[in-house]
Amino acid sequence: MKVLKLDHVGIAVKSLDETLKFYTDVLGLDLASVEIVEEQKVKVAFLPIGDTEVELLESTADDGPIAKYIERSGEGVQHLAFLVENIEDAIAEMQEKGMRMIDQMPRYGAGGAKIAFMHPKDSYRVLVELCER
Ligand code: ZN
Repeated sequence: MKVLKLDHVGIAVKSLDETLKFYTDVLGLDLASVEIVEEQKVKVAFLPIGDTEVELLESTADDGPIAKYIERSGEGVQHLAFLVENIEDAIAEMQEKGMRMIDQMPRYGAGGAKIAFMHPKDSYRVLVELCER
């Protein structure tokens, strides 16, 4: 597996409308797109920075994974996403190396990317998302 770059940083927020003001008005970033991922009960905003991105995640339901995350840990950095060449190969290699995967099979994330989360207990409490575009 080769990690090609830091694809994006995922940040859990209570309100996109409110948080976006900081990223656009204060930091001066451009909002590239907003998308709802029904399966994950999340509304996602992408703000590119160079060849990486900030991904803001707002839950669309009280029982969604981001709502639960905020309940547990509050708002803030939620995951790091690493771009890989081939996600099926990357999952297999991580499993061979004894890493537990939250997703054994890739699923579709925002922007049509194929994604899989690793178990944070095996990555020193950093939630790592592998993604292929
Ligand atoms: Zn992500």
